[in-house]
Amino acid sequence: MPNMRMTKVPMPEQDPNVRSHNFQEVALGYTAEMAVEEAGRCLQCRNRPCVAGCPVNVRIPEFIAKVAEGDFLGAYEVIFDTNTLASVSGRVCPQESQCEARCVRGIKGEPVAIGRLERFVADWYREHVNAMPERPAGNGIKVAVVGSGPASLTCAGDLAKLGYQVTIFEAFHTAGGVLVYGIPEFRLPKAIVQGEVDKLAALGVDLETDMVIGKTYDIDEMFADGYEAVFIGSGAGLPMFMGIEGETLAGVYSANEYLTRINLMKAYLPDSDTPIKQIRRAAIVGGGNVAMDAARCAKRMGAEHVYVVYRRSEAEMPARREEIHHAKEEGIEFLFLNNPTKILGDDQGRVRAMECVKMELGEPDESGRRRPVEVPGSAFELEVDAVIMSLGTSPNPLIRSTTPGLEANRKGCLQVDEDTMQTTREGVFAGGDAVTGAATVILAMGAGKKAAAAMDQYLQSKHGK
Ligand code: FAD
Ligand code: SF4
Ligand code: SF4
Repeated sequence: MPNMRMTKVPMPEQDPNVRSHNFQEVALGYTAEMAVEEAGRCLQCRNRPCVAGCPVNVRIPEFIAKVAEGDFLGAYEVIFDTNTLASVSGRVCPQESQCEARCVRGIKGEPVAIGRLERFVADWYREHVNAMPERPAGNGIKVAVVGSGPASLTCAGDLAKLGYQVTIFEAFHTAGGVLVYGIPEFRLPKAIVQGEVDKLAALGVDLETDMVIGKTYDIDEMFADGYEAVFIGSGAGLPMFMGIEGETLAGVYSANEYLTRINLMKAYLPDSDTPIKQIRRAAIVGGGNVAMDAARCAKRMGAEHVYVVYRRSEAEMPARREEIHHAKEEGIEFLFLNNPTKILGDDQGRVRAMECVKMELGEPDESGRRRPVEVPGSAFELEVDAVIMSLGTSPNPLIRSTTPGLEANRKGCLQVDEDTMQTTREGVFAGGDAVTGAATVILAMGAGKKAAAAMDQYLQSKHGK
């Protein structure tokens, strides 16, 4: 008999008053008993609607059945078959709009906590088994992978397992992409990402860091050096700004820069040599997950007031409900229906305030959301000493502009053939945010997997096999 409890087994969490002053993980994970209890809520539906909601089609009922039996290794093997980054996706996937959105238990009550169970299984495996993969026999064919986010890590791993000699070229000094420079430690501990990078090293993948492709080395040079195919997984890291007065003042950051200083360069540690402003009152402009991460980091860095300034209402906010809830618990102040018009500086060129206007919602726009309209005569000054712009990102044009034959759409996303993931240049493949624009970890991972299979086919036919 399934467990007919209407709600998920609650996730143990750090107390908000404690965690808003530290960078340790907020959600603490299920115990084995909690996982077995939650797994008992799954009805083992024959038509498996939840699987269709997962971008990489994890065989959800199958792994949950194994959890319910206490066969955690068996559960891991089922997940790993289609998802190699389960400890990451179990933490950061927007499950509520993917697998869990389709769960029939969600019709009357809460869906099965698929993400939490996936995280439990992956963490159990890391703690109890954590086997390093064996290095396969090589086929002598060199392949280059640009970037080291989830798309590239997955592509590199799959190609290495097939015997290719893979080299990853990463611009930063550490591998992991947004998983290390963007998503904060308190949502995704960096040791987990490093564990995945270590597995690639065990498979024989070479990692060259501090290599900015398009500056230090380029794709033509890769082919000249004997690489027979290239995968571009360079993400979408170019931040957007509003174009308002005052954006060049000291104390204005893009969310990407602010988060990189904190997460990758560890500005929160006393021995870090990365300069970062001691902020007293911060305004975060935007309403997505990146804005939530920036706000929660600012709070942890000691800001007394952290305002999220968003031009629509809470209902239209694109951030995950869970992130908004966590942010509120930690004391982040939300200024809905407010739009910045100008950043004001002091006589030293530092931010002293942000001018905003009040908004109200009008008719729906092309995105279907009600368009915010300015309320006349509503301008006011918000006293802040830092402004963190979190308005979205697009792919950096560097690789595209230095690689003949690569074409992109008007948003700067690389064009690929949907079946082969090959770009407009032969032998050059791409996937992840570089192709889709800013999206999700699991979509990037799925793209890396698909590209690796297509690259294998391309290389095998090139070598007449
Ligand atoms: P990235 O992860 O962006 O990796 C690209 C890599 O390429 C980077 O390491 C970059 O340094 C490198 N690179 C770029 N240019 C070059 C070059 N010229 N030469 C060499 N290397 C280069 N998604 C979720 O699913 N859940 C979340 O909770 C979530 N939170 C997020 C929070 C933040 C702050 C951000 C910014 C994004 C978040 N996302 C989240 C989105 C998700 O992280 C991305 O969709 C995903 O990481 C894209 O993967 P990728 O491999 O395509 O690129
Ligand atoms: Fe759900 Fe993401 Fe896991 Fe798929 S990978 S089952 S969407 S948590
Ligand atoms: Fe289990 Fe929900 Fe999937 Fe049905 S839809 S198999 S209850 S997880």
